[in-house]
Amino acid sequence: MALLEVQGLTKSYQANVTVLQDIHFHAEAGEFLSIIGPSGAGKSTLLRCLNRLIEADAGDITFDKKNIRDLKRNELRKVRTDIGMVFQHYNLVPRLTVIENVLHGRFGYKSTLQGILGLFSEEEKERAFFLLKKLGIEEHAYKRCDQLSGGQQQRVGICRALIQNPKLILCDEPIASLDPHSSKVIMDYLKSITEEMGITCIVNLHQVDVAQSYSDRVIGLNSGKLVFEGSAVQLTQSF
Ligand code: ADP
Ligand code: ADP
Repeated sequence: MALLEVQGLTKSYQANVTVLQDIHFHAEAGEFLSIIGPSGAGKSTLLRCLNRLIEADAGDITFDKKNIRDLKRNELRKVRTDIGMVFQHYNLVPRLTVIENVLHGRFGYKSTLQGILGLFSEEEKERAFFLLKKLGIEEHAYKRCDQLSGGQQQRVGICRALIQNPKLILCDEPIASLDPHSSKVIMDYLKSITEEMGITCIVNLHQVDVAQSYSDRVIGLNSGKLVFEGSAVQLTQSF
């Protein structure tokens, strides 16, 4: 069975305006899946429905053999530790250091604790450093996040998502605010996460060429409808 199976997902924010209509797709363990489509297509809404940051109106989302629609709040919290998130605008706490932001991922994301380093075990700190090193930013560990470039901040965002040992990472336009060089670095890292750690990445993108170069499979959304589902090669042929 696929790690993630989505069936008949439908969402409206207002009556008569369907933002997602009867969406079906799946993602396998270790797969790199891109969701492409123009602005307003519903990509961000779709991604947020997957971990119930947004509640869908209808449809089933089966993640790791559980239908996440049926989960109670505390069960959902547990499932969310298996699902990391990466955002276009990084969503770091600017006045905290890099290492504090990464460790913040252990708490869930809305706490604004300061001086949190003392709350973590040596193993947890070691794991945070391991991830920072893997993403090539360990020398910035004690800098405030707002002193880093956009590309470096996005690497911190990826480390924060990874510290929970997720099975799935949802990335909402992770490179839309970055220059071409930083974008390549970030996409290369996301790809290596799938290949080396077997983590599934679902990445919202609006650049078709980037989706073609990195994805195992691609789904295309337009006006809330699934308009394409296939391999990167099939995507190339259809453009
Ligand atoms: P994308 O990520 O592809 O740009 P979104 O999921 O952000 O698309 O938006 C899809 C549609 O839903 C757009 O028409 C957008 O205006 C609308 N939308 C998104 N969020 C909300 C909201 N909170 N309330 C009402 N409409 C929304
Ligand atoms: P935008 O990037 O479109 O401005 P945000 O990403 O800031 O919107 O926030 C959208 C929602 O996601 C918020 O309700 C926020 O609490 C939640 N959120 C932010 N980061 C995470 C995370 N890492 N995991 C789960 N939920 C998060």
